[in-house]
Amino acid sequence: MTQEFGTVVIGAGIGGGTVVESLREAGYPASIALVGADPAAPYYRPDLSKKVMLEGSDPADSALRGEEWYGAHDVSTFFGTEVSSIDPAARTVTLDDGEQIRYGQAILATGSTPRTLGVPGEQLANVHTLRDVGDAVAIRSQFGKGKKVAVIGGGWIGLEVAAAARSHDCDVTVILHTDESPLSSVLGRELGQHFEELHEKNGVTFLKQADTTSFVGSTAVEAVETSVGSVPVDLVVIGIGADPTVETAASAGLKTDDGVLVDEHMRTSDGSILAIGDLANAQNILRGERLRIEHWDNAVRQAEVAASTITGGNRAYDWQPYFYTDQYDLGMEYVGRGSAGDEVVLRGDKSSGEFIVFWRRDGRVTAAMNVNVWDYGDELRALIGKEVSAERLGDEQVPVGEL
Ligand SMILES: Cc1cc2nc3c(=O)[nH]c(=O)nc-3n(C[C@H](O)[C@H](O)[C@H](O)COP(=O)(O)OP(=O)(O)OC[C@H]3O[C@@H](n4cnc5c(N)ncnc54)[C@H](O)[C@@H]3O)c2cc1C
Repeated sequence: MTQEFGTVVIGAGIGGGTVVESLREAGYPASIALVGADPAAPYYRPDLSKKVMLEGSDPADSALRGEEWYGAHDVSTFFGTEVSSIDPAARTVTLDDGEQIRYGQAILATGSTPRTLGVPGEQLANVHTLRDVGDAVAIRSQFGKGKKVAVIGGGWIGLEVAAAARSHDCDVTVILHTDESPLSSVLGRELGQHFEELHEKNGVTFLKQADTTSFVGSTAVEAVETSVGSVPVDLVVIGIGADPTVETAASAGLKTDDGVLVDEHMRTSDGSILAIGDLANAQNILRGERLRIEHWDNAVRQAEVAASTITGGNRAYDWQPYFYTDQYDLGMEYVGRGSAGDEVVLRGDKSSGEFIVFWRRDGRVTAAMNVNVWDYGDELRALIGKEVSAERLGDEQVPVGEL
């Protein structure tokens, strides 16, 4: 017999886990199913490249809720189960074992999938991407003094892995295909350089303008071959970004364009399907543009909006993007959305390790980043889009709250 649920959530990550909690908190009365390909209950994914790799913390400690929470709140869980297709006309989803379940509403929260390079040797042992607990545990188990680790790509996850590997005394090389500093395309040249220097100071080597052409080894990887030479390795982590996991959405014929297109209430082109998190290319009504954001805060907040939509509320996607990172002794938060070409204004001395950075375009603040200084979150958020002179932004005598 086909099981039937008021709401079926597809993808049991941060967005999926949060939306079922939000539905129950809002008093949603109907039955809920949470289907996730990952065998674990939803967990806090950012911990994978931080606590799990640095401290060897038990991934179970990063669970959003213990498994018992779901049963206690009448949420039927299908963990370790993939949804292979959705039939919007019949309002059914088909699971990977062939079972079909019927929904009143479906919420897609399938996240994103790490890109791979598509070069020979990528299937060798000890060549990894990092997305789930299994990846994190496998990578961490290879860390050790003198182990040769290559990180391909200088984005947030790659740099966090580099920092974690250094904390275990690995020899770390970050391989970049351009001659720019890591993160330059996001933060601009000056701040990219700051992150590069931070890693160099902590013993990381950068290999630039190096296109990875293959991995070589008998069973496990032994070297990365690049356009500028060979790098001997014991372990490789590929961190070259991720793509939205759209296959299930595509099976339902939903409109997609760099993710699943949703309105400000997280509704897709099908009236009974919503989409949230890394997957969603959503209309942001504060900024007046579509955004697809791959950050934790976005998945949580969009989950809350989706729960509001389903329970008859009117919450909308109306906030500035936000994220954070921790690398060595640098902790930072970033709010807004700057471009590499924006004017950079510093408040404080970078060399002190404690400062704020503003990005500015056409006289307005586009983004702000607080580095090792805290408690400015709301004030910085309120500045995004505001017209403020570079002089005032940079003047430490003017309190941030008065800018
Ligand atoms: C190592 C790492 C570190 C990170 N650090 C930070 C950080 O410091 N700060 C920050 O803001 N963000 C960070 N992020 C990003 C953040 O974790 C994501 O933005 C967030 O997890 C997105 O939530 P989501 O629910 O959209 O997707 P996910 O949390 O990825 O969940 C999607 C789930 O859907 C499942 N799934 C996919 N397809 C199917 C299917 N067909 N059927 C069933 N299940 C399916 C997947 O298995 C997965 O469990 C990090 C990400 C990683 C990988």
